[in-house]
Amino acid sequence: MVVLGITGGIGTGKTTIGELLKELGVKVIDTDCIAREVVKPGEKALEEVYKTFGSKYFNSDGTLNRPALAGLVFKDENARKMLESILHPEIRKRWLACVQQWENDCVKFAAVIVPLLFETEAQNQFNAVICVACLEETRIKRLIAKGWDKSQIEARTKAQLPLSEKMNLSDFVIWNEFDLDITKLQLIRVLRNMSSYAGI
Ligand code: ATP
Repeated sequence: MVVLGITGGIGTGKTTIGELLKELGVKVIDTDCIAREVVKPGEKALEEVYKTFGSKYFNSDGTLNRPALAGLVFKDENARKMLESILHPEIRKRWLACVQQWENDCVKFAAVIVPLLFETEAQNQFNAVICVACLEETRIKRLIAKGWDKSQIEARTKAQLPLSEKMNLSDFVIWNEFDLDITKLQLIRVLRNMSSYAGI
């Protein structure tokens, strides 16, 4: 099985690339979805978050107040690191289990979307890493259209490696600046390249 890691800056189009890969027959898992699962009521990680950060980051029904916690961790680096140390190991455990299941099911191509792939040193888990990139102004325009404000975008961008560095560290770059047809063609080329590499 070929396992691709998909990374990139916020709003560059990782989720979109995931959808295109699914259309191309690739099994895809998005760690942003897992990140939401691990803080659902009853999860051990949620208990840890409660013990570490306290009730003020929780709603009255016991669910996590995500905007409140995001407000803290994107202002306070230590708090962000503490939160990441609770969530990241659990998130990784789950996507590795998913990849293992695909391997058992004889899946040929799989992809895992990991926004903080290099930051969490996950690169060795993949046969190749794809960085999704576009112009900075395009990325910001798309995020604003999604309802983000400039200060949120800035705070989240600062908490990651610069996009240029992610591009530099990756095996492939998908330039997601134009129509999705063009993005899809680039993905097809990467898949062809990887299938001849893997002999499948
Ligand atoms: P985040 O970091 O917030 O999870 P992301 O990297 O997953 O974002 P997407 O959600 O896939 O990025 O894309 C951001 C926005 O840009 C979405 O509204 C998406 O529909 C749009 N978008 C992505 N690629 C293109 C494209 N090639 N042309 C036009 N719009 C696009």
